[in-house]
Amino acid sequence: MKIVIIGGVAGGATAAARLRRLDEHARIIMVERGDYVSFANCGLPYHIGGTIGEKDRLIFETPESFREKLNVEVRIQTEAIAIHTSKKEVILRSSDGSIVIEPYDKLLLAPGARPYPLKILGAERAPVFSLRTIPDMEQIMTYIDTYDPKKATIVGGGFIGLEMVENLVVRGLDVDLVELSDQVLIQMDPEMAGWIHQHLADQGVQLHLSQSIERVGAIHPRMRLLMNDGSNLETDMLVLATGVVPETKLAVGAGLIMGKVGIQVNEFLQTSDPDIYAVGDAIEVWNPLIQAPVLTPLAGPANRQARLAADHMIQGNQNAYEGGIGTSITKVFELAAASVGLNERRLKSAGRPFLSSITHSNSHAGYYPEALPMIIKLLFDPEGRILGAQIVGMDGVDKRIDVLAAMIKMGHSVSDLCQLELAYAPPFGSAKDPVNIAGYVAQNILQRQMEPFSWREANDMNDPNAFFLDVRTIEEQTINPFEKANTLSIPLHELRGRLHELDRSKTYITVCQIGQRGYLACRILIQNGFSAKNLSGGVKTFQYATNKGDSIHPD
Ligand code: FAD
Repeated sequence: MKIVIIGGVAGGATAAARLRRLDEHARIIMVERGDYVSFANCGLPYHIGGTIGEKDRLIFETPESFREKLNVEVRIQTEAIAIHTSKKEVILRSSDGSIVIEPYDKLLLAPGARPYPLKILGAERAPVFSLRTIPDMEQIMTYIDTYDPKKATIVGGGFIGLEMVENLVVRGLDVDLVELSDQVLIQMDPEMAGWIHQHLADQGVQLHLSQSIERVGAIHPRMRLLMNDGSNLETDMLVLATGVVPETKLAVGAGLIMGKVGIQVNEFLQTSDPDIYAVGDAIEVWNPLIQAPVLTPLAGPANRQARLAADHMIQGNQNAYEGGIGTSITKVFELAAASVGLNERRLKSAGRPFLSSITHSNSHAGYYPEALPMIIKLLFDPEGRILGAQIVGMDGVDKRIDVLAAMIKMGHSVSDLCQLELAYAPPFGSAKDPVNIAGYVAQNILQRQMEPFSWREANDMNDPNAFFLDVRTIEEQTINPFEKANTLSIPLHELRGRLHELDRSKTYITVCQIGQRGYLACRILIQNGFSAKNLSGGVKTFQYATNKGDSIHPD
């Protein structure tokens, strides 16, 4: 069997290694148009920032090590330019222009994605960078070392944009972040992104939300960026991180069937030609939560798909790819931001009914030193099935999102979260883990023990029959975030004795710092015949969602 692999990084290199483990006698050729194979693109921003010291640590294998360890022929600086499916041939062009026609029995496409080609007028004259490869990274580092820029502007507030923000700040640059949307990390909901906005501002990053760059004006002595709102931004370098588009040119040229957003494959990663497989950023995968094809340009899915495709090529076995639910995490200075599944925007556009809960927890037992805050948002359907989860926090975010991702993948419900038995000792967690707590609160909502009132409803509230009932202590109530609305104040510990002050014909929205005392107040009111709802996630969540730049400090 002769197998040709196009693309030599995450998907391609993983498939090559798996193929060799399964078939010692196959001839395996891996073709890569760049200079490197099997490198950690995910680590590139951290080498720029200096956290990953030596460049070699980013490179797992070389063409030589592939040959020595795995007997895989690697051809770098070689581009696949066409596939003749009827003849089962792929046409390869080397950097010296020479052409080779390579026949195959099976072909694997792992060509990845390329940076979204954002057009900014005048940018061709300016120091503008993107980050996808080791040479991209080296260009950025060489520019910094040579010209000692003081200011950088990043365009795009996704994972790579935020990682570049952090690492350029670490390098000592003043950084502006320009984002077209009104929030960073659009896979998260606004109240979750709000903490990240605050944290970026605390690190000195200038955030320009709902803005875009119209064109690059003068270049010297500094680059002048002309913004869509008419303002100007001065900078010394521009990094574009506005997402990626799948590399589908080769597949389109070969006549393979394209899906809605990427190369179409079946559950065994076969394209419309059964001898041609495709994996990674270039393909669309089935999202079981919305029952639709999506792109998941992430390293984990690319690696798993590559293994399955290799298995199917050699063994023809029946291990199917189950689709993607978009589990992801990123570091933003001291914060970790993670999400899985669907957010509110996606659920609304899919027309799916849903409920949500927001819980503020500590990373481990509060009485043990260095417990740090985290916020968990759950989205679930009216039957309780978990549809999405988002977490922002300073410690322990990774393990919680992984638990939630596993539960979503397996189709579990919020009541299953209440039943989870998770490892606990004070330095690591709590007897009621944040994941259990999220489950309890979601279950309370489902069982109608508490009706949540969202930050949006609070922001828009103009019902004369509804009152915010602030149950925080008087000392905590220095800020009333609901300036124009009716707000009463009765601290929780006084509530039972002051129920006579309340009006049974009104609705009370209980308010506290993070939603917990509000829940207790809500239960007291409901059991005494009042109509009550609880501000979901409390004042802190409301402030994160509506923050206009004031400092909010997590407890
Ligand atoms: P790639 O790994 O990009 O490999 C594709 C290769 O194919 C490229 O080297 C390309 O040169 C080559 N190629 C394309 N066309 C041809 C052709 N015609 N002929 C020959 N060769 C060709 N994901 C995460 O999950 N977590 C992270 O923290 C994370 N951080 C990231 C940070 C950065 C800066 C970047 C760029 C990506 C990051 N990713 C992260 C995404 C992750 O790296 C990708 O999802 C993953 O690499 C996709 O694997 P792939 O094999 O599909 O494509």
